Amino acid sequence: MIDTHCHLDMSPFEADRGDVLSRAFKSDIEHIITVGADPQSMLTAVGIATTYPQVFAAVGIHPHEARLANPMLLELLESLIRDKQGNKIVALGEIGLDYHYNHSLPAVQREVFEKMLSMALQYHMPVIIHNRQADEDTKAIVKASGMKDVLFHCFSSDDAMAKWAIDKGFYVSFAGNVTFKKAQSLRDIASWIPDELLMIETDAPFLAPEPMRGKRNEPSYLQHTARVIAEARGVTYEDINRITSVNAKIFFGIGDLPPSEIVYKIRDNLYINLTSRCTNACEFCVKFDSDFVKGHNLRLDREPSEEEIIQAIGDPKAYSEVVFCGLGEPTLRLEAIKRVAQWVKSQGGRVRLNTNGLGNVINERDIVPELVGLVDALSISLNAQDAETYNRLCNPNFKDAFEEVLDFIKKAVQTIGDVTLTVVETEGVDIAKCRDIANRYKAGFRVRKLDSVG
Ligand code: SF4
Repeated sequence: MIDTHCHLDMSPFEADRGDVLSRAFKSDIEHIITVGADPQSMLTAVGIATTYPQVFAAVGIHPHEARLANPMLLELLESLIRDKQGNKIVALGEIGLDYHYNHSLPAVQREVFEKMLSMALQYHMPVIIHNRQADEDTKAIVKASGMKDVLFHCFSSDDAMAKWAIDKGFYVSFAGNVTFKKAQSLRDIASWIPDELLMIETDAPFLAPEPMRGKRNEPSYLQHTARVIAEARGVTYEDINRITSVNAKIFFGIGDLPPSEIVYKIRDNLYINLTSRCTNACEFCVKFDSDFVKGHNLRLDREPSEEEIIQAIGDPKAYSEVVFCGLGEPTLRLEAIKRVAQWVKSQGGRVRLNTNGLGNVINERDIVPELVGLVDALSISLNAQDAETYNRLCNPNFKDAFEEVLDFIKKAVQTIGDVTLTVVETEGVDIAKCRDIANRYKAGFRVRKLDSVG
């Protein structure tokens, strides 16, 4: 995991900083971003980052300290940002607005915030934003700045603010307060932030998560926040660890991104990444924006052989299901599906095929009977309530693709039985009408979030 925000420079860590870091790195923490947000703490944070290879620094002027932002301080900040101290300074922050305490006058906070954003743009630095009770002004200033690489740290606003942030493609990070008993509304927000925009942090020494609440917070406690967010999102702790680490690495430009995988685990299922080819080009397809799905790199250099896949699966019984599903359409490799599924079944595993439902046109025959005894369940992307919407959203290579999908659904329900239709929650899709289609065909129905595979 990556603790994307803590204050290792602060006095509570003075006596035992080395022990705190060693506890962190003995737990699941891979990297830490320590944030210096006043003149002295900026320099201390940079000193810590240059001492410990796994620690990086962010520097900026906190809204509380905006009143201190004289030309000399701005010059110091600019020199740090320009120099980056051997790439150990990875963001400008925390900066923003805090109208709760108003330790600096709001007008002064706004002026300094604008200056920081333009400095970040000039030096191509991502920014970490502190926003407390200042949603409207924060939105206006960030929007006017044109800044794209933005992380809202210790998110504590409402639904509307979170939706605004993710619509703009900004990252949202949750701290220990998301674990507090009375923070259900925050947990609700943490449950639907898209995978690719989610991060976690401690904000240590503040906001120790349950069950450590009341103690000095430290990076090794991040696991508690991760577990609560995993539960809110219905995924595992390992999933949150992987998803948020990849996001932090991309955002801050630190560490190594994971290599591509031919099989990958989400929750208790194992997914098989057969191909990146597809006969559709759906406008919501994750592969057009990212190589990553739930922190797994699915961009294949080449398509894996059947033997490679079987070897990578290991014991199929270790998983609830083995699912053919990657960044492409599996039925383009029908023979590989059949061979691998046969092996999985022979080992006592259960097989699901996630498909766009165009396998019959792709293979120029009715393939459903060939799946009997090999595939236990099918998830078929319905994606739309009618042909016009389907063609607009999915850009299929085939004429009459929507009708072909409906025909495939009919045959699959008749022959395999366990069939679920999926739609992605996106503009123009009439979920109620899609559900009606599923009912009509006696198939299950599932609405997927925009980014969600698995
Ligand atoms: S059918 Fe699936 S893999 Fe193919 S483009 Fe659409 S979302 Fe992507």
